Amino acid sequence: MPNSKRKDRLIKEYIHDPYFTKEKYKEPAVCEKCEVVFVDGIFQWMEKTPPNANKMICPACRRIEDKYEGGIVYLSGEFLKEHKEEILNLIKNVAEEEMAYRPLERIIDIKEDNDNIVITTTYEHLARRLGEAVHKAYKGSLKLEYPGGQKYIRVFWER
Ligand SMILES: [Zn+2]
Repeated sequence: MPNSKRKDRLIKEYIHDPYFTKEKYKEPAVCEKCEVVFVDGIFQWMEKTPPNANKMICPACRRIEDKYEGGIVYLSGEFLKEHKEEILNLIKNVAEEEMAYRPLERIIDIKEDNDNIVITTTYEHLARRLGEAVHKAYKGSLKLEYPGGQKYIRVFWER
């Protein structure tokens, strides 16, 4: 169970999200798509869905449906071309770790072509984490842009 400090922080993060309309969810509520549970004011993974949970679609699943991203990550460069699989694995691992801790942080899409990988995420936080993780593991250059305040991020990594 999350402690209350963490809970407050998580609530603050989502309170201004147009997809987070708390009053819509009658607690406990379970997402029909991903089975995340909304209870005690936050979204959390539970081994067992509470009995008689109300059904809903969570903000992350809605964003994925609408392709309404909170962040985008552009990876490019010669090094990337040579280490694509490795870097994709890192991306997936970091995304899984984040999602375990913050259930609404998800990858929406990963697009690959010869030279680039472009990843979109449900929220700003995960995009930043992915950029930082690749940078930490493989050096190169990392640039973070917030074009419209803190709610949306563009992350550029090159090596
Ligand atoms: Zn969901």
